[in-house]
Amino acid sequence: MIKYNIICKECDLNFDSWFASSKDFEKLKSKKLLNCHKCNSLNVEKNLMAPKLIRNKPDNDLKKELKKHSVIKNKIKDYQKFIKNNFEYVGKNFTYEARSIHYNEKKKEKGIYGTASLKDLKELKEEGIDTQVLPWVEDKNN
Ligand SMILES: [Zn+2]
Repeated sequence: MIKYNIICKECDLNFDSWFASSKDFEKLKSKKLLNCHKCNSLNVEKNLMAPKLIRNKPDNDLKKELKKHSVIKNKIKDYQKFIKNNFEYVGKNFTYEARSIHYNEKKKEKGIYGTASLKDLKELKEEGIDTQVLPWVEDKNN
């Protein structure tokens, strides 16, 4: 036996009803044997009770989910540290700097990193200049 909370779409009545199975519910409904206790309307549905489902989600899952995010965030931060130590920050001049290195064969000890629009990156790629797009986390502590 399974208990469903039924909601009437006509008069908004909420009532509990027992069924042999979830298939039983569908069967009764298709045979038009399921109607509202108050207005007899056949326009009734299983109440999905979404807030209850959310409340029943184990807290551990949520904690794991958050932990996973912070692990990824830390990895990105480690990577950022590596980039900051080994690359020269050129900010919005990235496209210009990347071109000048490429065309002038200007020797730089460090690689460069900075910001560029997707359009700029596409143009650089068409000119044969390789770029890497990195996920970046703003460090609010600095
Ligand atoms: Zn009703």
